[in-house]
Amino acid sequence: MIGRVPLRTLLTHGLDDQVRFGAEYVSHEVLSDGRITAHFADGSTDTADVLVGADGTRSRVAASLAGRDLAGPIGFGGIAARTPLTDRTRALLPTIVGDGPVLSLGLAGASVFMQVHDPSGGPAIDPASCTTVPAITEAPSLVWGLSATEKVLPPATVQAMTGPELIEFTLSTVRGWPPAVLELIAAADPGSAAGFRFYAADPDADLTPWPAGPVTALGDAVHAMPPTGGRAAATAIIDADHLARELFAARDGHSTIALATHRFHREMAGYAPAAIRFSMLPLRWLSRVDRLDRPGLRGLAELGLSAASAVHHFNSSLNGRAAA
Ligand SMILES: Cc1cc2nc3c(=O)[nH]c(=O)nc-3n(C[C@H](O)[C@H](O)[C@H](O)COP(=O)(O)OP(=O)(O)OC[C@H]3O[C@@H](n4cnc5c(N)ncnc54)[C@H](O)[C@@H]3O)c2cc1C
Repeated sequence: MIGRVPLRTLLTHGLDDQVRFGAEYVSHEVLSDGRITAHFADGSTDTADVLVGADGTRSRVAASLAGRDLAGPIGFGGIAARTPLTDRTRALLPTIVGDGPVLSLGLAGASVFMQVHDPSGGPAIDPASCTTVPAITEAPSLVWGLSATEKVLPPATVQAMTGPELIEFTLSTVRGWPPAVLELIAAADPGSAAGFRFYAADPDADLTPWPAGPVTALGDAVHAMPPTGGRAAATAIIDADHLARELFAARDGHSTIALATHRFHREMAGYAPAAIRFSMLPLRWLSRVDRLDRPGLRGLAELGLSAASAVHHFNSSLNGRAAA
């Protein structure tokens, strides 16, 4: 597992003069020589051989290519935060969390994901090997995320909440869960709390419904999926790897840009739909458990007798490399 900030720092290392932050893509045009000019909200432009939209869920680049949004809301949302691991909070960790990421399904249409992020307890990258890129060691924390139906987490309500309010809202949603879990949630860093609406692309549709050419998109822009599979960022990184290899081949004269994007689209169609379906699975379980939410069962949950009805360990090999 690698955190978002170290990942971005590693990916942009040495590219200070190439990366421009704060430039909002608005539109693009294909020039007569086949190159692409991208237009930004501040009136600036950039011209290049290839434009790759990595602009996330509800991508403008992908929408301009497809003529529609590729992803839509799926009726679920989430609240996520980090709880710093101290002697006190470590003592509260459920034993099962020590074995890897855990997803617990509750009876009130809500689930809680928990994963220990402790680079000091076994870094994915040995800091001693970081000779050209400075090592970034994040403080140990418990990453947790509440997922629930929009009936439980109305998007407008969640989006208007501050960090402390999001934590309070989570606690009220999972009241009746084991006291240690509630204490861990209550001890979260409010500055790390954020609320999300979940979107997904249709895994049965063509994810890149445009002709292969010098403009394409990758990552959440084409295969948005809920975070409940722990695969979305990993799938985006796999996309980037495939596309970069194909573009290097085109640069070196072994193929063309159109062939490179065509091959990339074909490769991605082989793995991205499965990642979307895998990520939707826990939400399907949650819907089923939600249907069991009758007054008697809710009573059991509130008494803490049946706080978690199912636990799923993510054993995907991809997950270990995913960003939280
Ligand atoms: C709570 C939570 C937990 C998650 N946990 C995991 C996990 O454990 N494992 C995992 O694999 N994935 C996880 N994910 C998913 C992961 O964060 C995303 O899949 C991943 O960030 C997608 O990368 P991306 O580059 O495609 O898009 P993003 O990371 O969304 O990046 C898109 C970028 O484009 C920018 N942008 C948007 N519009 C424009 C525009 N018009 N012009 C210019 N820039 C624009 C945005 O500001 C953003 O910086 C999680 C997501 C959430 C919300």
